[in-house]
Amino acid sequence: MELFKSTESEVRVYSRAFPVIFNRAKNAHLYTEGGKEYLDFLAGAGSLNYGHNNDVLKKALLEYIEADGVSQGLDLFTTAKHDFIESYKKHILEPRGLNYKMQFTGPTGTNSVEAAMKLARKVKGRTGIISFTNGFHGVTTGAVAATGNKHHRGGVGMPLGNVDFLFYDGYLGEDVDTLAIMDKVLSDGSSGFETPAAVIVEAVQGEGGLNAARAEWLQGLQKLCEKHDMLLILDDIQAGNGRTGEFFSFEFSGIKPDIVTVSKSLSGYGLPMALVLFKPELDIWESGEHNGTFRGNSMAFVTARAAIETYWKDDAFANEVKAKARVLGEALQAICDKYPGEFHVKGRGLMRGIEAKNAELTAPVTRRAFEKGLIIETSGPNDEVIKCLMPLTTSEDDLRKGAKLLAESVDEIMQEGMSEAS
Ligand SMILES: *Cc1c(COP(=O)(O)O)cnc(C)c1O
Repeated sequence: MELFKSTESEVRVYSRAFPVIFNRAKNAHLYTEGGKEYLDFLAGAGSLNYGHNNDVLKKALLEYIEADGVSQGLDLFTTAKHDFIESYKKHILEPRGLNYKMQFTGPTGTNSVEAAMKLARKVKGRTGIISFTNGFHGVTTGAVAATGNKHHRGGVGMPLGNVDFLFYDGYLGEDVDTLAIMDKVLSDGSSGFETPAAVIVEAVQGEGGLNAARAEWLQGLQKLCEKHDMLLILDDIQAGNGRTGEFFSFEFSGIKPDIVTVSKSLSGYGLPMALVLFKPELDIWESGEHNGTFRGNSMAFVTARAAIETYWKDDAFANEVKAKARVLGEALQAICDKYPGEFHVKGRGLMRGIEAKNAELTAPVTRRAFEKGLIIETSGPNDEVIKCLMPLTTSEDDLRKGAKLLAESVDEIMQEGMSEAS
């Protein structure tokens, strides 16, 4: 532990909340060097939708390595890339009526956002992008300009520009139509708003506090994009890959974004991989214009394909996720019902959590949960939301067990708070 503290940069985050040394992991469990078992409701911040060391994915990867499959292939044509593209087209894009070209960027989410924003600007010949309150799109300079969070923005050390923020669904309260405001400022030639190249949005805001946009809002946003000639970039990095109970988080609304960014659980094995999907007519890139050494991680292609072939050939897995989401939703609702007005349930699918009216409560609750063997994090502008992001493959037993540990932690902190107050 001392070696990390003395030598690893202060920039580290998660190891502060969970200061133990892990050495093994399986599905929804993490194990420490000392052999203590934790239930993992953080799951690589949503990059382990199919669990730690998923057996099917592991087998495919081991076979590929054993056969000396190409491990670093730049953006050369490889069998691994071919088979992934074929599988993704056949089982993901075509059944959903989506016709997209695929761009493999450097292997992080933020790199796919950089590519998406660059491409939108190039296509429209305009510099502006509209992002939304509480949006999170990564921390490289281009992407962080579209990220609302002050802490992340402040880390850049220079002015961020060419992104304007408007109001996400529900930001101004249930009764305010935030799209009407958007339409108004974009329609008024003296509002001070220039027509941007694109709008970037999450269907469920992962880091921003599990705010879930309604289907009507996403449909309205798509219409506004058409009306004002802006491209619609849907950032599906966290909410995608099955998290909401559908492969893409926007499917329930029926919209077809112009550009979609995908990463986190795409490889399915926690291997870095990122992808940008866009309508074929937008493909005006010149060769190498958005480049990178690690575009297309061959091992990630192998596990990503195995994940699709295992979980997405039919509806069985999606239905399983939806059923688990109901179990989780009920368990979280039960916590909230016990403390009316203090907590309420947020999010969609297995991207769900509870928001505390008093944001001071969430850190003690997640600390207590960790003591009890549950790894769970917070999100939202003031860390007021306790966020459940367990693997989609978590057993129903473990799901209930984790929810119970969370409920006990809430009870204890509420009790202790009350006895302190009296
Ligand atoms: C995590 C995340 C990103 C950034 O991905 P990195 O791999 O951390 O760069 C971008 N957008 C959303 C919605 C995310 O959740």
